[in-house]
Amino acid sequence: MGYKPMHPSTVTYSKNIFVPVTNLCRNDCAYCGFKRTFESGEAYLMPPHEVRAILARRGSEKEALFTFGEQIEKTDAGKLLLNELGYTSMTDYLIELCKMAIDEGLLPHSNPGILDYEDLKRLQPFNASMGLMLETTAKIEAHKRSPGKDPALRIEMIENAGKLRIPFTTGLLVGIGERKEDRINSLNEIARIHEEFGHIQEVIIQPFHPKPYTRMSMCTPPTFDEMRDTVVEARRILPEDVAIQVPPNLTSFERLIECGANDLGGISSLTLDYINPEAPWPIIKELEKLIAPHRLKERLAIYPAFIKKSWMGERTRDLTLRYADELERLF
Ligand code: SF4
Repeated sequence: MGYKPMHPSTVTYSKNIFVPVTNLCRNDCAYCGFKRTFESGEAYLMPPHEVRAILARRGSEKEALFTFGEQIEKTDAGKLLLNELGYTSMTDYLIELCKMAIDEGLLPHSNPGILDYEDLKRLQPFNASMGLMLETTAKIEAHKRSPGKDPALRIEMIENAGKLRIPFTTGLLVGIGERKEDRINSLNEIARIHEEFGHIQEVIIQPFHPKPYTRMSMCTPPTFDEMRDTVVEARRILPEDVAIQVPPNLTSFERLIECGANDLGGISSLTLDYINPEAPWPIIKELEKLIAPHRLKERLAIYPAFIKKSWMGERTRDLTLRYADELERLF
């Protein structure tokens, strides 16, 4: 596919600490290398002191990324482990962890999987922003055992976040069995939602990465051309105010920036990408050199346009404004 190279002069990223709170999940996606069952002996739910120990390592990081398996209350193991910590709901526990992150000087960005409107509303005050990958609007084989990957449910949650004015991250997972038309359809759907609610701050274009011992371990990841075409389509379809993010540990990001990508997402110098532990984060100084002449600029978990509109969760307001001011003075 032909494309007109774009030259964004600024490429952003956020310094974060990645907290994989639990590897239990009610879903069973064919490509997932993160989820563990209780029977495997490898399942966990981090107790508060473990989470605190990770957050307390903070240096110049400003974001706490809480990413974990979905609706663990719907699994026997999840119920049990939550009970042992004195909780019956993951949302209740996550609220406590968000408070802890704020105490430690970090802005929470939670990726809890599918939540209903009430749970989102309860989490909103404690988050600078939140996220849920749409992944694809197509019904695909890889999601056959994953009730939470029903596209209608995901669209409903993204819309609910819009009703609650939660600055939001979503995205596509490329190469999981969807067709090119499906990717266009997914991008059009995100554009439609953003037009209605105005809360999508970034869209991640993430490649499928085969993981050993998964049902899709032998499947091939998307080619660079497929990734490039998706980024080009994303820039064509999405409004200008929506950033296009490509993960620098999984993509040829320098070339995708030339196609319109303008954000590299959360980068952690302290913690792994627990979803793709085989892919280390690049070092910021190296990134600066690699993307030159484009300028690398740190951003917060909430984008400046949403700070201006005061859409951050109330409990994150002071910290957000302080860090926004610091970054403003730096650049
Ligand atoms: S929802 Fe996420 S954690 Fe759960 S099985 Fe799917 S990819 Fe794995």
